[in-house]
Amino acid sequence: MTIRHHPDFASLMCCAAGSQPDAFAAVIASHLSVCADCRAEVSRMQEIGVALFDALAPADVDAAAPVIAMRAGEAEMGSAVDESVTATAREAPAGDVPLPLVSVLGARLDDLPWRWSAPGIWTHPVPLSENAGGELLMIKVGPGKEMPAHGHDGQELTIILRGAYTDTIGRFGVGDVADLDSDTEHTPVACATEGCICLVARDGKLRFKGPVARLLQPLIGL
Ligand SMILES: [Zn+2]
Repeated sequence: MTIRHHPDFASLMCCAAGSQPDAFAAVIASHLSVCADCRAEVSRMQEIGVALFDALAPADVDAAAPVIAMRAGEAEMGSAVDESVTATAREAPAGDVPLPLVSVLGARLDDLPWRWSAPGIWTHPVPLSENAGGELLMIKVGPGKEMPAHGHDGQELTIILRGAYTDTIGRFGVGDVADLDSDTEHTPVACATEGCICLVARDGKLRFKGPVARLLQPLIGL
């Protein structure tokens, strides 16, 4: 697996600090399970956070607030990262669901209860706990199919799990992450032979550009 697109520095920093909404943490954990470079980067950030925390004088409570958050998140996300590393080291189950999600989704993407959303597009919402932040969705796009042109009301974090897609930013293959903010508008086109299955976290609705797509949006669940 050759990974060309990694999460933004800010997203990795949020991961290291344990301050990410659950949906985004799931995508980052999925990427960390296959990307040694980002695992090393997150570990390094956590070490820096802990060192800063330990160096602080007791009086610097207000200034230390972000670091306290980082330290508090360390146990939680640190264990998540450790689990990813451990899981990677273990023999992988015979499947293609990211290891951090296997306990929730099972091991095989083909076994998910896909719901038809539009011609050539199927979705499966990933259940999150009641107070979890963000929305997590599996999307399957048929070979050569095009997603309607859209922008985002918030951040959108996507990892490719099978096949690939191409947009104006480039080609995204298995393990790659597209870390998009509300300024980005794109029209992803799935790989002509394999199509594309991806895991998408977002904290805002998509903004479709075409009038037909906008009318259909409530019906197709995107
Ligand atoms: Zn990476």
